Order: sequence, then C-alpha cells, then structure tokens
Amino acid sequence: MSKIRTRFAPSPTGYLHIGSLRTALFAYLTAKSQSGQVILRIEDTDQERRVEGAVKKLVEILNWTGIEFDEGDHIGGEFGPYTQTNRLDIYERCAKKLLARGKAYRCFCSPERLTKMREDQQKRKEPPRYDRKCRDLSDEEIKKNLQAYKPFVIRQKMPKRVEVIAHDELRGDIKFNSGELEDHVLIKSSKIPTYQFASVVDDHLMEISHVVRGEEWIPSFPKNILLYKAFDWTPPKFIHMPLILNKTGGKLSKRQGDVSVEDFKAKGYLKEALINFCAHLGWHSKGDNEIFTLKELEKEFDYKKIGTSPAIFDTEKLDYLNGYYIREMEIEKLVDLCMPFLEKNLSKTTDDRRQTTEYIKKVVSIEQERLKRLDEIGELTEFFFLDKLKYDKEMLVWKKMEPSEVKPNLELIIKLLNKIPEDCWTNDSIEEGIVSYLKAKELRIGNYLWPMRVALTGRKASPGPFEVAEALGKEITLKRIKLASIK
Ligand code: GLU
Repeated sequence: MSKIRTRFAPSPTGYLHIGSLRTALFAYLTAKSQSGQVILRIEDTDQERRVEGAVKKLVEILNWTGIEFDEGDHIGGEFGPYTQTNRLDIYERCAKKLLARGKAYRCFCSPERLTKMREDQQKRKEPPRYDRKCRDLSDEEIKKNLQAYKPFVIRQKMPKRVEVIAHDELRGDIKFNSGELEDHVLIKSSKIPTYQFASVVDDHLMEISHVVRGEEWIPSFPKNILLYKAFDWTPPKFIHMPLILNKTGGKLSKRQGDVSVEDFKAKGYLKEALINFCAHLGWHSKGDNEIFTLKELEKEFDYKKIGTSPAIFDTEKLDYLNGYYIREMEIEKLVDLCMPFLEKNLSKTTDDRRQTTEYIKKVVSIEQERLKRLDEIGELTEFFFLDKLKYDKEMLVWKKMEPSEVKPNLELIIKLLNKIPEDCWTNDSIEEGIVSYLKAKELRIGNYLWPMRVALTGRKASPGPFEVAEALGKEITLKRIKLASIK
C-alpha cells in the first residue's frame, strides 16, 4: 500500500469552527486508521481575513483536542514550509510551468474592464464569467504588456466543452461539462495564489494521498481535476464530507459563540465529548457503541463509511455525551476542571472549611451525576457556599402539606439530627436517623424531607437532603433548618 498522507488545511480566522474540528478529525482519522500521516497546513493567502495571533491560537486549540499532527510549521517536517504565504516562490514556479505548457495565460485586463464586463453580463442575465479576452494574446502583445509593467493575473485555460469526471470516494464519479467553467484566476496580480491553485500545488508537492474536505468544495472540484491534468499530475483521492446542518435543517449559526471550539471549551465541554460528537457528524461505527476514545476511533474509523446526507448538529446529543464523560471521570480530575467555574462561589463563603479541597470534592461529587457542562457547576452548587440562603417561605411547603406543619416538622427533624453524633455524620446515618423514625411513627415522609431539603438548599430542585446535609456538616445543617423553622 502506498503511503497514506492527509492534511488539515485551515485558513486562520482567529478561532476554530466546530465544522473545521470535524474536518481536522476526519483527516486525522483517515490517516491514522491506515497507519498514515496527517499534516497541518496553514492556508493564509486571504490577506483581508488575516488575524494577528490566529495561527498560534489555532495550534493551541488543536493541541487541546488531542489531535496530533505529524508535520506542520509548529513541529517541522520535510515537506515544509507548511504556511502558504511562505511558499509564494513555489506557486510562481508552478504557474510558469503551466504558462510554458500553454495551459494557463496572463490576463492583463484592468479591474475596471472586468467590473464593466460583469455588469453587462448581469444586464444580459448571463452567468458572470471572464470573457477570455487575453486567452489568445500574441507573444508580441504579451511582451509589450510585460515591458510596460502592466499588472496581470494568471488564469487557467479551461478546455472548451469536454466532459470532466471527478471521482469522489463517497459519491463515485461526478460529471461536469468544462464549458461551464470559467478561466479562473490561479495567481492574482499581487502574486498571491488563489485557494484553487495553492491547494492543488501543495497537495501534490506534499504528497497528499487523500484530500478530506467539506462538501462545499464540490462545485470547484472539476477545476482541481483539470489543474492536475494540466500539470500531468495524478490527483489524490478526494473525500468530501457531508454538510453539517442544525436541527431545523438550516446552516449552523454564523455567530462565533455558537460554533467556535474555543467557546465550547469555555462553556465546559470536554475534549472527549467534542471529539466523539464530531466523529459522528457524518460517520457511523459498525456496532451500536457510540462512545469512543480518540485512540479507539483511530482503529474503528473507516472513511468509506462516511455518509453523504447532511449530518445534524444536535446539541442535546453533545450534552448527553459530555454528561457521560463527566460521570465517568475521576473525581480529582473533575474537581480540577471545575475549579475555574467555582471561584465565584468560593468567594461567597467566609467559612474556611467550605474552602477546602475536601469540601469542594464532596460538593462536586454530589453534582457529578447530573452535571452536563462544567460551567453549570457554579450555579448548581452555589447554595453549598452561601453564608445565608435566600428563598420564599412558601417553598418550604410541600404540595401535600399545610403551611402550619412546616415549623413543627422541621423541629422534629432538628431533634432527630441532634441525636446523630458529629463523627457519625454521614449520608446513610442521617437517612437512617430520620427515615426509620418517620416510618415507625407512620408519618408522611415527604412532609418532612421536602421542607428539610428546601431549608438546606433554598431550591425547588436539588440533590437529596441527606447528601447535602452530610456535605454541609452538622453545624450548618442545623443552623439552616433552625432558620427555616422560624421563617
Ligand atoms: N483553507 C480551506 C478552508 O479553510 C481548506 C479547504 C480544504 O481543505 O481544501 O476551508
């Protein structure tokens, strides 16, 4: 088997789009599932979209995801440089080769002429395309223009009306008519190549075997194929991944906060969940299992199993996966990851005991089951840290009880809790101490546990009263219940 090499070729925009993470992952998995290599290439030829520090940020967030590259300017490699603006001489050399072969030509048309031409085409309801005025300039004319330092672009000379067959690994042969293709620009007058040209040159010179990219590139796919033909190069295999749509079938929101991996990270999504989620945006494993580590995906992944119908971006599924990984996580690690989200709560207590790692660990472990995103931990656990709870008195009344019952019921709870020695203050013994008494007296359990739980948390929904009481400790538990009983 020949060498398998794929690439992830982002344009550095300042953040990593979640769809680009899927591209990076599929490129990585296509390589790794076949013992190949994956390279990181920076496609920064769009000068207008340049963002300072974007490449550094990109490498940082990719490192965070766990996707490792074999080559790239950040780690080196023998096919570099891997940043397109550092390869301009290479593109120039290649463009000259095409000129010499008669497969490309210099176009000296002024921007004004091109604008006028487009406007006229629009008026005539014709598709906007270059009218090929410079396609057949004589050598004399070209020489004259060059000597006059007339700016020019280099355009590809498209064959007139031939059938172009572009083979996609997932969709099979896609047929195009070259008559519909424009003599598109390969090198702009600024000497900067277009994406179409630079990516073909780079993929060839970097010996890319599989181009893994989004379906939105299919319309320009025939241009790529014709460029390979013009050079007499063998094209790599192309894998166009399906679109990613939101649940209502529309495009993913363009608002950065909804799609950037950095923001998912800031909201407390784990890299394991994001990777697993992205892996299933268009790909399905053989069996029922949907939970894979990156290492497992490397074995399991088969690019031939990527579908072609749009993948649906279902945030509920992502939350489910994130919750799953949170539940599976060692508590020490979870506490570490939660710490940045707990700082605000920690600043709310004046009690030293509630600042200790031991206390925080207990609190986090109580919420571990229901936590879906790390950033929820602050809100969920606030009551554990407050010196004084704020809630409506009415909340203490359970639906099946009279308001007048709250006070005596809480007093009974206080009496029962007082009997439990400090050194036996555990979830189980608190439960035992209360529930066995209530049962023996045939009292309605909810009439006691509801107000107790509200007294401890100040909330309608929260973890159970015994585990909360255990974490809070005997002193604070009694203090909170006493306060509630005199409310
Ligand atoms: N620079 C292109 C982008 O960011 C890459 C497309 C490709 O993978 O060829 O969309």
